Amino acid sequence: MSEPLYNFNAGPSMLPREVVEETARACLDFNGSGLSLMEIPHRSAEFKAVLQEVRDLVRTLLDVPQDYDILFLSGGARMEFCRVPYNFLHRKAAYLDTGTWAYQAMQEASHFGEVVTVASSRGDHYTYIPQDYSVPEDADYFHFTSNNTIYGTELRREPEVSVPLISDMSSDILSRPVEVSRYACIYAGAQKNLSMAGVNLVIVRRDALQSTDRYIPMMLNYQAHVEADSMLNTPPVLPIYAALLNLRWLHRQGGVEEMNRRAQARAAVLYEEIGRNRLFHAVAQEDSRSLMNICFVMEEEFAAREQDFLDFVEQRGIRNIRGHRSVGGFRASCYNAMPLEGALALQQSMCDFEQQVLAGK
Ligand SMILES: *Cc1c(COP(=O)(O)O)cnc(C)c1O
Repeated sequence: MSEPLYNFNAGPSMLPREVVEETARACLDFNGSGLSLMEIPHRSAEFKAVLQEVRDLVRTLLDVPQDYDILFLSGGARMEFCRVPYNFLHRKAAYLDTGTWAYQAMQEASHFGEVVTVASSRGDHYTYIPQDYSVPEDADYFHFTSNNTIYGTELRREPEVSVPLISDMSSDILSRPVEVSRYACIYAGAQKNLSMAGVNLVIVRRDALQSTDRYIPMMLNYQAHVEADSMLNTPPVLPIYAALLNLRWLHRQGGVEEMNRRAQARAAVLYEEIGRNRLFHAVAQEDSRSLMNICFVMEEEFAAREQDFLDFVEQRGIRNIRGHRSVGGFRASCYNAMPLEGALALQQSMCDFEQQVLAGK
């Protein structure tokens, strides 16, 4: 057995090894049919069963009420930045600006109606989630990014506002329970916490649809996708199948409560070490810190050792902790598949590297 590898990449990201292996097997022979998953008709009973089961699992795991539809669409999370205002913005929408993705979602919406930025931490490099803001009562919805993947900040509970919520949960979906009934729409690109790249999960409240009077191009129209059962065009079969396997895994592990417990445990190990270690400090302010993307930088005086540290952890099986180019430093992304051992291995490496540096080596 070779040393374990811990992949801390922010996305595409680590999946349970068994999910990767079973997906690979289905690429060669799907369900003993002798055909590859890539070759079977997407309207076959076999694939329809896949779609049904993955939808049922999302409903069970996130406790999605019956008046919501669950869609699997393509185009990446960024496609939803435009599908959301197309479908839900009549006159006015409120947005919380907490990072690059939140900002881009807001920019896109501004072409569809009045967009109110209720608060922004842009001037402080997005190091925190603003707390004090008010949302106009007549807004059609309030959009926020639950986890800011690049900056490592997160809202782990629903904001207290009176209008329907819409959230980009690309990087923390299924890492904790969510009060779905507060939302008109939840969306997430798959490649952070759900599957491989190529599909989005979209959860929409049925009665929030079909309420704008603009023409919505068919592929951008959620109602059309609901009516076509996520098969308006050929769906991305492979990422949908990988999502199914991943959600079966998640269900076996104990669901989102268990994922939340694990996320808390991993993050506690790492933030504690960052706080203790003389070489590093955390990027995000304490009350806004993400459990998913743990961002930290080297203290000014040790800045020249950044590459040394990356090489050091590489030898211990730790991969892809370089920070996003707009933040620098390091980012340890700990999605559902990251075992506690991965966080402990990184913690130990930080500790050992500190000793080496302070001993003048
Ligand atoms: C990665 C990410 C996106 C962009 O996802 P694509 O699928 O590449 O479009 C959007 N929002 C958040 C929060 C992300 O983490």
